[in-house]
Amino acid sequence: MAELNITDPMVVVGAGMAGAQAALALRQGGWRGPIALVGEESHPPYDRPPLSKDVLLGKRDSTELDIDWQHLGIELLQGRRATAVTPGVLHTESGELPYGGLVIATGAAPIALPGSDGARVLRTVDDALALRARLVPGARVVLVGAGWIGAETATVARELGCEVTVVEAGPAPLAGALPAELGALMADWYAGAGAELRCGTGVEAVEPGAVLLTDGTRLPADEVVVGIGARPATRWLAGSAVELDASGAVLVDGQLRTTAAGVWAAGDCVSYPSVRSGTRLSVQHWDHALQSGRAVAASVLGTALGQGSGEPYDPVPYFWSEQFGRMVQYAGRHAEADQLLWRGSAQDPSWSVLWLREGRLVGMLSVDRPRDLSQARRLIAAGAVLDPAKAADLAVQLKAAVG
Ligand SMILES: Cc1cc2nc3c(=O)[nH]c(=O)nc-3n(C[C@H](O)[C@H](O)[C@H](O)COP(=O)(O)OP(=O)(O)OC[C@H]3O[C@@H](n4cnc5c(N)ncnc54)[C@H](O)[C@@H]3O)c2cc1C
Repeated sequence: MAELNITDPMVVVGAGMAGAQAALALRQGGWRGPIALVGEESHPPYDRPPLSKDVLLGKRDSTELDIDWQHLGIELLQGRRATAVTPGVLHTESGELPYGGLVIATGAAPIALPGSDGARVLRTVDDALALRARLVPGARVVLVGAGWIGAETATVARELGCEVTVVEAGPAPLAGALPAELGALMADWYAGAGAELRCGTGVEAVEPGAVLLTDGTRLPADEVVVGIGARPATRWLAGSAVELDASGAVLVDGQLRTTAAGVWAAGDCVSYPSVRSGTRLSVQHWDHALQSGRAVAASVLGTALGQGSGEPYDPVPYFWSEQFGRMVQYAGRHAEADQLLWRGSAQDPSWSVLWLREGRLVGMLSVDRPRDLSQARRLIAAGAVLDPAKAADLAVQLKAAVG
């Protein structure tokens, strides 16, 4: 392909947070050519985190991003699904879009549970509004999966007066991601909210009005919501020059470039090399969508302006979840072998758990301690070594615990 020029047509495919940020930052960064933002949903770009919180609760109907696309000269092509990419052309259900540069930001789609026709998922604003209409007092709601989405949906459903049962195949909530002692604590949060949590059992089938579990139990259900994770929405790229990993994530380098010339990618759909973590990461959280959307624009602009490679994309991963009246936040990335250190205790109204590797802070989970969290993000980025005695003491600011 010819060299990229700042006046070339740019196409951004996937109009979620990453795609919207990429298009916005391209224009604001000085992209002079046409920019098209292509998305299969019929809505302008919107924010997803409130879907399982305020939208489901009925506090908000729309989470549309407050961006004047027309004023920015960005063409929004809604309700348009991409089907393939060939050099210089994005193919869609309704015609071809030639590009000089392409950013792929098609996000992730919920993993389907085999045999779960009739069950809902929660990914789009349409999903949220449809589910909300069914969360009426006394409705029997079965949630499959005690992950982040399951916990948030259980929280709202209980608040709205539904009878909630959560079915989790693992031994505890988030058993794959967090140590057993934290999983056990979280299980108590379900009980405290009056949601029944059934761990260690899978779903055999979703039947009309019921869910049949692998242990033979048949749970009556007016609504069934499956939240067992999401998979990169990249099947449409099969057979193209854009290489995917085994999970379907788009393989990008530190500049978020894919293996195809003139094609970049960002957000939930990518796997990027993290030097900080010593491995490739696929992150499906809001902060990564925002930051990688902006970073991909910088990378495209740098290439078109002949400025060479900038800093590799490698932020400290971060996400939050609002569940059972608590603000849960996590920063960094820990491994099982890392030293776990409590800051405060689960009996305190707020607490944090830190993970240290050779004394360095590498990860932190906090409950209702946003200040700890923002300090931890900086300390993890700096590779700070902590004094464990100080770090464990809630009376000492985390940033003052550097050893
Ligand atoms: C209910 C819910 C609650 C969440 N809460 C939190 C939270 O509290 N904290 C947190 O950190 N993260 C949260 N997240 C995760 C966060 O919202 C995502 O990480 C983020 O939305 C990813 O942005 P994205 O732009 O990469 O992908 P997406 O938001 O998935 O956007 C991709 C867009 O591309 C479109 N698309 C897909 N395929 C095609 C195609 N072939 N052609 C055209 N368009 C296509 C999709 O329809 C979609 O609109 C939540 C997610 C959900 C669903």
